Amino acid sequence: MAEDFDLPKGDLMRGKRGVVMGVANNNSIAWGIAAQLAAQGAEMAFTYQGEALERRVRPLAESIGVKLLIPADVSDEASMEAAFAAVKAEFGTIDFLVHAIAFSDKNELKGSLVENTTKANFLRSMEISAWSFIEASRRAAELMPNGGSLICLTYLGSERVIPNYNVMGVAKAALEAATRYIARDLGPKQIRVNAISAGPMRTLSLAGISGGRAMIGKGRSWSPLREDTSMEGIAGCALWLLSALGRSTTGEVIHVDAGFHIVGLPDEEAEGIGG
Ligand code: NAD
Repeated sequence: MAEDFDLPKGDLMRGKRGVVMGVANNNSIAWGIAAQLAAQGAEMAFTYQGEALERRVRPLAESIGVKLLIPADVSDEASMEAAFAAVKAEFGTIDFLVHAIAFSDKNELKGSLVENTTKANFLRSMEISAWSFIEASRRAAELMPNGGSLICLTYLGSERVIPNYNVMGVAKAALEAATRYIARDLGPKQIRVNAISAGPMRTLSLAGISGGRAMIGKGRSWSPLREDTSMEGIAGCALWLLSALGRSTTGEVIHVDAGFHIVGLPDEEAEGIGG
């Protein structure tokens, strides 16, 4: 629940409405971000993958006053059309969008990219994890006559080789490039578009990656801050980007990972910590 996090309250999002895509449960990054936005006065609609998740998502949504809950499978165009039509009918216009969605067959998130990637899963991973942000951006922008702000979630595996991340790394590279092109396209409409590159978090998505727990241990022991990435840190970055505080920033990929991404070789002493 929202009380699990230490979230600063205020009015930075008061009067703003938006769509949060990708809450699956109370560990979801989308949930941490939504809880922070609510604590700053935002009004939101949640889209979630399908009926099977409603039982978990509804109580979370209700706990922060979210009334509009819409099932939307991003690989189904009709479902996306219906979801954004529902948002338009309820809100008219919106100010922000959070895209926190990714998928790949977990059998391909291990071992060799070259040997272990099928064309079908490559295309599906790209569709759900990268294409869907382009489509959601287009649909959201149609509801943003007064400008707005869009964010998506990415990971360092797009820039560096991370064991087992494989096809997701390729999809995240596409997502980050898309972020820059969408920022170029929507900038003249005063719509800002950015990506948050988060350190590893204990979510359903991480559980699908072989050795996901080890990613957390290494993050803690190698990062300059010597700590796990926090949900509060990610949510705070989202608040900055989605509120007026983030004006003038667009097309960026911002790392929120306790500084892990700057390390080329860990300090000898660091390797012994955590693990
Ligand atoms: P999560 O499993 O809680 O969220 C992933 C969401 O994607 C779920 O809500 C799921 O229902 C949704 N989804 C998958 N396929 C979908 C489809 N076809 N249609 C609609 N929704 C679909 O995990 P998370 O870690 O919170 O992931 C959110 C985002 O953060 C993802 O983009 C992920 O890659 C990114 N990310 C996660 C980490 C991490 O370590 N957990 C690190 C960096 C970035």
